[in-house]
Amino acid sequence: MKISLITPISVLGSVGKITAMRLEKIGIKKTKDLLFHFPTRYDDFTKTIKIENINSDEQVTFIAKIEQITSRRSFGKRKMTIIEAVVSDDTGSIKVLWFNQFFIIKHLAQGDKIIFSGKANLSKYGVQIMSPVYEKLSKEEKIHTGGLVPIYPTTLRLSQKQLRYLIKVVLPLAKHIEDFIPLEITSQEKLISLREALEKIHFPKNKDDIKLARQRLSFDEMLIIQLITLLSKKESEKHKAVKIQPDNKKIDKFVNQLPFCLTTSQEKAKNEILSSLTMDKPMNRLLEGDVGSGKTIISIIAMLSAGINKIQSAIMVPTEILAWQHYLSLSEILKKQHLHIAIFTNSIHSIARGINGPRTINRKRILEELAAGKIDIIIGTHSLIQEKIIFNNLGLAIIDEQHRFGVAQRKKLIEKSGDTDTQPHFLSMTATPIPRSLALSLYGDLDISIIDELPQGRKDIITKIVAQNDRTKAYKFIKEKVNNGEQVFIICPLIEESDKLGVKSVKQEYEKLKNEIFPEFKIGILHGKMKQSEKEEIMAKFKNNKINILTATSVVEVGVDIPNATIMVIEDAQRFGLAQLHQFRGRVGRSDKQSYCFIFSESTNEITQKRLQALTNSNDGFELSQMDLELRGPGEMFGIKQSGIPTLKIASFSDISTIKKTSSWAQKIITDKKLFNHTGLNKKIQQNVDIIHLE
Ligand code: ADP
Ligand code: MG
Repeated sequence: MKISLITPISVLGSVGKITAMRLEKIGIKKTKDLLFHFPTRYDDFTKTIKIENINSDEQVTFIAKIEQITSRRSFGKRKMTIIEAVVSDDTGSIKVLWFNQFFIIKHLAQGDKIIFSGKANLSKYGVQIMSPVYEKLSKEEKIHTGGLVPIYPTTLRLSQKQLRYLIKVVLPLAKHIEDFIPLEITSQEKLISLREALEKIHFPKNKDDIKLARQRLSFDEMLIIQLITLLSKKESEKHKAVKIQPDNKKIDKFVNQLPFCLTTSQEKAKNEILSSLTMDKPMNRLLEGDVGSGKTIISIIAMLSAGINKIQSAIMVPTEILAWQHYLSLSEILKKQHLHIAIFTNSIHSIARGINGPRTINRKRILEELAAGKIDIIIGTHSLIQEKIIFNNLGLAIIDEQHRFGVAQRKKLIEKSGDTDTQPHFLSMTATPIPRSLALSLYGDLDISIIDELPQGRKDIITKIVAQNDRTKAYKFIKEKVNNGEQVFIICPLIEESDKLGVKSVKQEYEKLKNEIFPEFKIGILHGKMKQSEKEEIMAKFKNNKINILTATSVVEVGVDIPNATIMVIEDAQRFGLAQLHQFRGRVGRSDKQSYCFIFSESTNEITQKRLQALTNSNDGFELSQMDLELRGPGEMFGIKQSGIPTLKIASFSDISTIKKTSSWAQKIITDKKLFNHTGLNKKIQQNVDIIHLE
């Protein structure tokens, strides 16, 4: 059979239905997708050693003969199949073990000469090799071991071996791939051809090969992103916005009556935003600031300025809890401002605060008043972008915790201006910091305001990884603080108990805390499956200190602001990412009292340890998210794909040099007809325009 770049993967001889499904799960449908499925790293098996030189705790590669191989079932609760082999070379013998990989017994037999790669562990039976990758030496080519072995992103039950094998099969097709980068660029930048890059990225002969391949492929990826950013910038320049002139007197008066002074960087962010709003070009601004840095008040000032001008604002937040919290604080802070404020979510019976105080009105009424321009500020969740929501003159659209929303959702919100010629000014707020240079090149026309300090008087949160033995001590400490009037969050990864995971659930923890550990305190429970009215009630009680200790799932991850809470306990912390852990921690330390974050985890995984350790060493969200980026990659870190930050396949957000190079080429291409109309490049841009559409 003849295969081409667009041959469906399922047609390949060795791919059955189930394998095809698994491949599709990781985005591989056609042979071409295999070529562009890049390794995330390589295991370096270039050096083999003799068995007598194997030390424990080392990654080793060695050639040995199988003397004996057996399989058995383990004892104990969790039954496992253990494959055990004794292998030897001319210097000695060693034991090799695999767990639950029963098929190995069929692959390998006594007398086979094998190359093994794996980690040497010291057990009570001496040094052993656990679950090594291996390959029979009879084969001519060693694609799995014995060299630089690519490790691919994969999914359950799709092995590295299978992927490597398939990629090897389709690699000859690389010569049919059109090199879409004009020669002028590749030669000036000294980039290898696309075909060569594909060959080298999958089967490098040495580390230089990897470097050259990465350079070329990252360049391609980054260049396309830059081009599309520039094109969408051009597109958005066509829109007009309604000018919002600040009434400085009124705004100053409002700021002066706040219970605190704005920090210098809040002041700066405020001015930047207010001045962007006076333009007839839509503002497109990202407000970055670590958790607790006080972003909300800045957005309130912007909405106030719009309100004074009789222009509507909307603020969209990711959770109902947050919507409710914002509604309450906005209503309170803006009490004297003669503004109509409403909340609209899928389950909250609608409430509005009018000039004469709060009133409950039905949802239909809210829609009518919104369309008639009688509501100045509306707060809501995703429900705000439903079709039936019509504004009279939406002039300012705000998204809080922007990383929790997809691009499409943001787009829908700004399309709601109420007339087709104008677009609202747009402000998105986030605590997941993207380095400035990076954000600028990724978002092109995006302006950025950064709040890089916390309000005065805040003390650094003391973060501790607590050993299980010290749990009682931690509870004793909590007891003292609660007796002092302070409040506590306890976060668990699950709602309900699950045998499989052995991870703490809020329901279980709640019972235990209430009945056994803190019977004298009021304990609350909060999770995503509760009714909205129940959630509201619990949050209100916690806010008023009617609940001392709140056990919750990650529903409190973002935004929740309870200044009197001073202790954050995170159970099974290994289940959360670094950025997320930092968000949890940001729920405390919101007053001038000393706050604490206690981390529990039984995981011994090395990366997890690093992540948790990092949290204890740093209180700086920017620093932590950079680390998270390195440890887990952007896809994981930013959570969802549509977050607007493209998931990079191979390029890196920290590769400033490639970002700069591609950015200047993109500028040039846009203005240079010859380059822009280069067939391959132009085709590539068209293909990608829909895929990567930013802000
Ligand atoms: P975030 O940036 O995480 O959204 P918030 O806007 O929720 O932070 O602010 C955190 C807390 O700090 C709130 O209780 C808020 O009222 C308070 N706050 C905001 N600005 C200041 C300031 N300049 N001085 C003191 N407290 C402030
Ligand atoms: Mg916030």
